[in-house]
Amino acid sequence: CGMVAIIGRPNVGKSTLINRLLGQKVSITSKKPQTTRHRIMGIHTDGPKQIVFIDTPGLHIEEQRAINRLMNRAAASSLADVAMVIFVVDGMTWTADDEMVLSKLRRGGEERQTILAINKVDNIKDKESLFPYLEEVAKKYPFDEILPISASKGTNVQRILELAAASIPEGPFFFP
Ligand code: GDP
Repeated sequence: CGMVAIIGRPNVGKSTLINRLLGQKVSITSKKPQTTRHRIMGIHTDGPKQIVFIDTPGLHIEEQRAINRLMNRAAASSLADVAMVIFVVDGMTWTADDEMVLSKLRRGGEERQTILAINKVDNIKDKESLFPYLEEVAKKYPFDEILPISASKGTNVQRILELAAASIPEGPFFFP
């Protein structure tokens, strides 16, 4: 199918990234319709391909409360049928919560692509200071790609679009 999920904690820059992704000339934005499982954030048309960008109910972190466990499970199952997951973190405020989500992402769905987008790199002056940590993350979690990005400046956003387009099959058009 042609769905790509963008997930991450509030404020990491998901909406900004979506606006960038859809800001390309050939995009068609939908009016955020809701399917039973996904909130559609927008649709990008790339030649014969349609990339449907979706949001998921948050992957809640602490699982002490039953309601959070339920929501986690709902979020995880809504990721089952996507072609690619883009996990967005804030390079400035990366937390242990992000680590928890990271450790859950690869459960099931091994064939789906998983990309880590480290956002707001425009805010990081000493970019090389990130490298040792990124190396550690890359060793621990088998992401298909780890991308430092700036959603607000557009850095590496084209790369995300290319990866998304490559992850989905060509038409006939899919619509959820
Ligand atoms: P969301 O809650 O994940 O959808 O996050 P938003 O897209 O609403 O962004 C949260 C805040 O981070 C806003 O104030 C954005 O302007 C800011 N932001 C988003 N992307 C970037 C970025 O690449 N660089 C910087 N410096 N700020 C960003």
